[in-house]
Amino acid sequence: MNKANSLKTPSNAWSIEQSEQIYRVNRWSNGYFEIGENGNLHAIPRYDQPKLKIDLREIIDEMSSMGIQFPAVIRFHDILRSQVELLNKTFRHTIEEAQYEGKYLGVFPVKVNQMREVIEEIVSAGARFDYGLEAGSKPELIAALAYNTNKNSLTILNGYKDEEYLRLALLGLKINRKIVIVIEKFTELVKLVELAKELNVKPVIGLRVKMMVKGRGKWESSSGERAKFGLSIAEIINAVTLLEKEGFEDSIKLLHFHIGSQLTDIRAIKEAVQEASIVYTQLIKQGVPLQYVDVGGGLAVDYDGSQSTNDSSCNYSLEEYVSDIVYGFKQSCDLAGVPHPNIVSESGRAMTAHHSCVVTKVIGEIQPNGKKFNTNKATGEHIIVSNMRELESDLTTDNFHETYNDIAQLKEQALSAFKLGIFTLEELAKIETMYWRILNNIQSHLHDLDFIPEELNDISEMLSSQYLANFSVFQSAVDSWAIDQVLPIVPISRLNEKPTKQCSLVDITCDSDGKIDKFIGDETVAKNIPLHKLIDNEDYFIGLFLTGAYQDVMGDMHNLFGRLNEVHIVSYDDDPKDFYIEEVIKGSSVEHVLSTMQYTPAIMAQMIKKEIDKQIQRGKIKPREGVHLIDFYEDCLNGYTYLK
Ligand SMILES: *Cc1c(COP(=O)(O)O)cnc(C)c1O
Repeated sequence: MNKANSLKTPSNAWSIEQSEQIYRVNRWSNGYFEIGENGNLHAIPRYDQPKLKIDLREIIDEMSSMGIQFPAVIRFHDILRSQVELLNKTFRHTIEEAQYEGKYLGVFPVKVNQMREVIEEIVSAGARFDYGLEAGSKPELIAALAYNTNKNSLTILNGYKDEEYLRLALLGLKINRKIVIVIEKFTELVKLVELAKELNVKPVIGLRVKMMVKGRGKWESSSGERAKFGLSIAEIINAVTLLEKEGFEDSIKLLHFHIGSQLTDIRAIKEAVQEASIVYTQLIKQGVPLQYVDVGGGLAVDYDGSQSTNDSSCNYSLEEYVSDIVYGFKQSCDLAGVPHPNIVSESGRAMTAHHSCVVTKVIGEIQPNGKKFNTNKATGEHIIVSNMRELESDLTTDNFHETYNDIAQLKEQALSAFKLGIFTLEELAKIETMYWRILNNIQSHLHDLDFIPEELNDISEMLSSQYLANFSVFQSAVDSWAIDQVLPIVPISRLNEKPTKQCSLVDITCDSDGKIDKFIGDETVAKNIPLHKLIDNEDYFIGLFLTGAYQDVMGDMHNLFGRLNEVHIVSYDDDPKDFYIEEVIKGSSVEHVLSTMQYTPAIMAQMIKKEIDKQIQRGKIKPREGVHLIDFYEDCLNGYTYLK
């Protein structure tokens, strides 16, 4: 045996910079999160107060002391405010710099996060910018009517509309809201004209144009000739003619387009602005009194921090996005000699993604090589077992590759021997134990090699553990399951310690799809994430980040887990910890989720009570125990749906 290359225990020295390389917090967090010197994850919720830092571990400790169970949503209201301010300020700054003559009047699309507290915070933060709301359905319109109280901000109405929807919109106009009804389908226009005459109001009308340019990414079918929404150029001309004929020609105020969400490539935006600006200038020249262009949503979030055209990323910044819109319209309008329109945008994802995260505990580990067996030499053992033992003792960094091939072959031979009945169960158990132990040994010393043969790279995947986390993918990270969205996952603590386990995450639903196996990787998406070894009697918290857009509100009731407990964090400089918990919202109780499926919990408790009473009469259960059992059932009905 070559002593020079004998195997030493690898050093565990670790820095937070090394953790940053793995979890890329600075790359995806937009500056709102960072790894702190103490190895805990910190939030920096105000873009204009970089010194104000909140230790997430302190939030979790405070929640625990209040008896709030996990998983839970942590919502940073300051991040929401920061994003709304940054968007509006960037537009204002760029407009000034470009000497653009129109204004920016953005709206927040309610569908991206309909939570009342989110809407209230956005409306409040946007008040000084006259930032409004966008609704895409009747219930969203009803919410927007009640909450968008700023008389100077817009309420943009998209989505398919029936008569009731249109009547609600006209009601909004009567209470002086700046409502714009965007026509998605020609027949909506016919109905609108009829109702406007009946109610004697002058509607403000937007026309959604079906764009030729394709968005890039998952939502590219939102545009193009086969798009579900919007009017073709022919229909737009017909719409203008119809409105002129009915005496509503001065109602056409806005031109709308939306080529898809999460636009990964800035070129799609440039092309869309170009196409829309031509339609705009031509309509103006025909005498249509347009005042606004609405560029829709699509401003992307760099979930994986790669700044690329990956589906979960984007190759541009907010500044670039805004510049391309402002300068794009300015150039086309100046060339055509028409006035610059006011600009509306409907960014939802970019406004809300960063402000909320899901925090949960890892509650167990499922290992591929979980079982250990005594591998000591036994008299008369099979030669395959002896050979395996020899390979184990002769392992050095010089023969990793060779040993890797040899043990794979031995394992196969052992299986064949077992099937032929010439190998005992004990011998097979020894082979398995030694096989996994050798793989582990190779894996932990791989970095000692100058060159890692490609085959050996498979070892880390073979050895990866599944960490069982107390949450439901279908409730909290539905896009991870549905569309392979990558969401950043980061341990909350121990970031100054080397994460020695390669893991994928499984949730507590009894669905084999209930797992996360797509993580931020070096170049492409990784199947595993390095996490820390679990320590007995010590909680290991992980966070799922960027869940504030869509994920927060799209979750479903798979396995009846329901909504999570939730805390709302507000930063507060005078507090020693820089924050306080403004509000606690209880997640779904078992009772609640059962009621949504037509159960009546009170009757269910009675049914159980009857059964228990029967057993008491038969003497099988003592009366005192019976009372405890009924109480226990009722407590569980009242309790949280997730694991305790
Ligand atoms: C969904 C949607 C939006 C929001 O898009 P984001 O990509 O989240 O910004 C905006 N406008 C319309 C019409 C939409 O359908």
